[in-house]
Amino acid sequence: MWKSDNEEENKIIINKYRQILRHSNVEDPEKRKQIRKAFTFALEAHKEMRRRSGEPYILHPLEVALITTKEIGLQSTSIIAALLHDVVEDTDYNLQDIKHIFGEKVSKIIDGLTKISGIYDQTSTAQAETIRKILLTLSEDVRVILIKLADRLHNMRTLDSMPLEKQMKISSETEYIYAPLAHRLGLNAIKIELEDLVLKYKHPEAYAMIGQKIEGSEEERKKIIAKFIAPFRKKLNESFENYNIIYRTKSRASIWKKMQDKGVSFEDIFDLFAVRIIIDSKPEEEKSDCWHAYSIVTDFYVPKQDRFRDWISMPKANGYESLHTTVMSKDGHWIEVQIRTVRMDNIAEKGYAAHFKYKEKGQSDKGIDEWLIRIRELIQKPNADTLDFLDEFKLNLYSHEIYTFTPSGEMRTLPRGSSVLDFAYSIHSEVGNKAIGGKVNNQLASLNKILETGDQVEILTSARQVPSDDWNNWVVTARAKTQILAALKEEKRKYINDGKKKLSEFLLKLKKEMSPENVSAIVKHLNINGRLDFYYQLAKGKVTFEDVESYFKYLDSLNTSWVSKLNIFSWKNKNTDNLSDIIREKMAENPENFLLGKNLNDLNYIIAPCCNPIPGDDVIGFVKDNKSILIHTTSCNIATKLMTTYGKGIVKAKWREKGQVEFLTGVRFEGIDKVGLVAEITNVLASNMNVNIRNIMVEASDGIFFGQAMLYVHDAAHVDKILTELRKIQSLKKISRITGK
Ligand code: MN
Repeated sequence: MWKSDNEEENKIIINKYRQILRHSNVEDPEKRKQIRKAFTFALEAHKEMRRRSGEPYILHPLEVALITTKEIGLQSTSIIAALLHDVVEDTDYNLQDIKHIFGEKVSKIIDGLTKISGIYDQTSTAQAETIRKILLTLSEDVRVILIKLADRLHNMRTLDSMPLEKQMKISSETEYIYAPLAHRLGLNAIKIELEDLVLKYKHPEAYAMIGQKIEGSEEERKKIIAKFIAPFRKKLNESFENYNIIYRTKSRASIWKKMQDKGVSFEDIFDLFAVRIIIDSKPEEEKSDCWHAYSIVTDFYVPKQDRFRDWISMPKANGYESLHTTVMSKDGHWIEVQIRTVRMDNIAEKGYAAHFKYKEKGQSDKGIDEWLIRIRELIQKPNADTLDFLDEFKLNLYSHEIYTFTPSGEMRTLPRGSSVLDFAYSIHSEVGNKAIGGKVNNQLASLNKILETGDQVEILTSARQVPSDDWNNWVVTARAKTQILAALKEEKRKYINDGKKKLSEFLLKLKKEMSPENVSAIVKHLNINGRLDFYYQLAKGKVTFEDVESYFKYLDSLNTSWVSKLNIFSWKNKNTDNLSDIIREKMAENPENFLLGKNLNDLNYIIAPCCNPIPGDDVIGFVKDNKSILIHTTSCNIATKLMTTYGKGIVKAKWREKGQVEFLTGVRFEGIDKVGLVAEITNVLASNMNVNIRNIMVEASDGIFFGQAMLYVHDAAHVDKILTELRKIQSLKKISRITGK
């Protein structure tokens, strides 16, 4: 075996190695031999290398292997992989060598580990790709991620020797992906340490300050605890042979976060801690033991009703089990009491691997399995944009969970904020795509209704349903978002082809050519987001053939109007800075306000159909020819475009009088259907508001209600008032004025 010249170093190396063996449960001599082989192999491979700190490099893989077994609870294969994890990347050996000597399983893990290294120093897209890879690997063999976390933890522990720039990059990356991953995999101790180390490098003063204060207040905390435990200690002794009471202060990172979020000082929260009762139970007595302890504690202290949590009957998705209650101590402190068994505590601290270890004893880890399945599904969707995906993924990592139920009582874990539609997609993509509403606890509910823990949800479907754009706003789960995107794309493709065909037929009628130039000019004129969108809107009837024709008419009018003849030239030759300057300048040239008349039939102005302004809206006029002026709202995109191109034709426009003329405008609303809703709406409009209704259209099916009303109004303020009144109708969920198309 290779040895360093330095006796001191040799001693440290051998000691580390022995520590690994001591902490692992590997007894099989064959496996122990393999571990030793991996150790000597790594020692030899890294013999010339030193870490930046000056230490022999081998100490790093040794530490990673130690974390892997001691803190995560993994055994021989993972220990071997951890020892060898940097060999392929940093030395002359390749994956083939590893496979040859240590077999397929180990080489696969190393392959995974090598692929996900070096995520910093990349563009954000490349980073997202790397993270996608991490997740892909995670879904194949979770050990890769666990060893990666051990690697990351040791790198964070030794970050001191890195240059500042790298410290920041590595810390950010840890905060961004590794700490959440550790959390999601239930590696609580590692998550806390990673977060604390991130704080240490990103906010060193805060880290030091909080550390000092925790130490300084230790005595006082101890007193509080001792006083708190004393009354029920005896009862616990009588009831349990083996149990332990420990207490934990919050971590520096979580104290820091609380100080930031709530704007409080350390002194306000230093006494926030949890007392944990850990009982060494027989497997069949776990639940009753925990409840027994709960009953003892609450015999002495009054629990806070809304802070009780039973994670034993319903474990968290990451496998966490415990009873939580918060009680008031005799001297007025709220103290959280966590009650769990030794097995549960192990899982809470070490997570997945500990979970695995207890699996034989009849425990299931359905939560983790389900989560891995979900991740796998997401990654395998080819079209999902990776960056979006990443955000979604992070969203799901951080969010808290709610527990909902199917009609048959099966539990569905969803992130907080999930809607009926999320629930539908969690069952099956087709259930989601065909969902029209739901029944939540037997009450009809719209697809966008937010669910709460304990809700029982039945999804109502219709074969004729298709997903719409709005749906994106109604879901929070990555799974639903991805499915909706895919369904919309499919749906859109059909319409696009249809719209394209219709356009070519219509242009033929107009004797215009279906050239790319013509099409993109129309698209520009109508202010649509690209050609495909144009075809789509045409097929959907959102853009009409009159609109298409209006472009050619507009083109003709430009060619004959004095605007183009006199002013375009001078305008175009000017190199002006920005749009607002241009407008200001142009307005100075046409100082008089153009006052708009009382009568809609006045021929001297035309209300632009794109933004349909009504009195009270801020408007601008565009001189179309000698006689007529086109009125747009100042926020209209088409108007903006006209201003940049034909600035000379712009006049300031102002409404002359208010409240005498009635203008036609539209209002759109959505909600949950119920008997008498239409009557209620018309009542508000006609009786309360005295509005003339031109027409009302409603569509309702299985509890969901969509409607639109065309109303005669005086001005914009009038419309606002109407909207305010309509919002008072409880069943209406979304109300808006129809502007543009
Ligand atoms: Mn490493």
